Amino acid sequence: MYDGFFRKIEYLRFSITDRCNFFCKYCRTKEACEIENEELSKDEIFRIISVFKKLGIKKLRFTGGEPFLRDDIFDIIEFADSIGIKNINVTTNGYLDEEKIEKIAKSSLLSINISLDTLDKRKYKVLTGVNGLGKVISTIKSLSKFKKVKINTVLLRSVNFDEIEHLISFAKENNVVIRFIELMPVGVANRIFESEFVSIEEILKKFKNFHEIKSNENSVAKYYHIEDFDHIVGFINAVSGHFCDRCDKVRVSSRGVLYNCLFDKIGLDLKEYLNDEDVLMEKIQEFVKKKNFARLPSTDSMMFKIGG
Ligand code: SAM
Ligand code: SF4
Repeated sequence: MYDGFFRKIEYLRFSITDRCNFFCKYCRTKEACEIENEELSKDEIFRIISVFKKLGIKKLRFTGGEPFLRDDIFDIIEFADSIGIKNINVTTNGYLDEEKIEKIAKSSLLSINISLDTLDKRKYKVLTGVNGLGKVISTIKSLSKFKKVKINTVLLRSVNFDEIEHLISFAKENNVVIRFIELMPVGVANRIFESEFVSIEEILKKFKNFHEIKSNENSVAKYYHIEDFDHIVGFINAVSGHFCDRCDKVRVSSRGVLYNCLFDKIGLDLKEYLNDEDVLMEKIQEFVKKKNFARLPSTDSMMFKIGG
């Protein structure tokens, strides 16, 4: 499927729930989640994934909210695999018990992105609302034996600006890639954006020697080999960078609304068309044709609903 600017749309990010067990300060607050959304059923999710597969989606990422709060997530992953989607990934806060870790290890998931913004137990509790650092570290250690694991770290001036080196050493010790992501002015983060934002450029100044590694042409991350650590580190300049020209993705929110961009206000409610696959396909294609070429500067949409 192509949009109006002939960009090939092959990547679907699917927020399968807006429930979460964390309250990360830049993503979700108690008042922001007061209005509970109606979540899509497993069957509705199957229908949406099937249609996107027919429209040429090759890469799928389940996100949320916390996707592993859905008991049926493994059925959803296996369904996507069974219809021929081979590049299936998930983003999680990593606060998982042994049973889930074992299931992930045996699943068809290609990779798991685990969010980890600090290695300081006290800061972790303040940032997420959960005393969970030990459990998340243990998830990273266990899962990296079976699956490709990447750590996602959102840069926050008061939290981790002084921890960059420690976080890279941790990633190296555990043989996983770490990616630093610029804080985006989305939803709750708008309140702290000015004081907490750190650019990738500022982080790169910390290192003396590094060189860029060639990455996949659609990748939003730039990867560098940092000589001081002899490790490959990813950087996503989600704010200071411009990658709309090669954007290949669309998003479905936890309520089943299709968005062409994280920053868009207008979406297409897929639930209205779920009973007729032909109409659903037509509506999606029509909507994706209208995908903008540049994004808005900020949005009040909630990250935990639209999916990060
Ligand atoms: N709950 C899962 C997790 O935390 O990994 C998946 C959903 S979360 C919304 C997905 C990713 O978005 C996380 O890595 C999170 O740190 C990131 N995120 C949330 N709000 C953000 C913001 N304002 N700017 C940049 N990244 C953000
Ligand atoms: Fe939950 Fe993930 Fe948002 Fe944190 S970043 S509140 S874990 S959805």
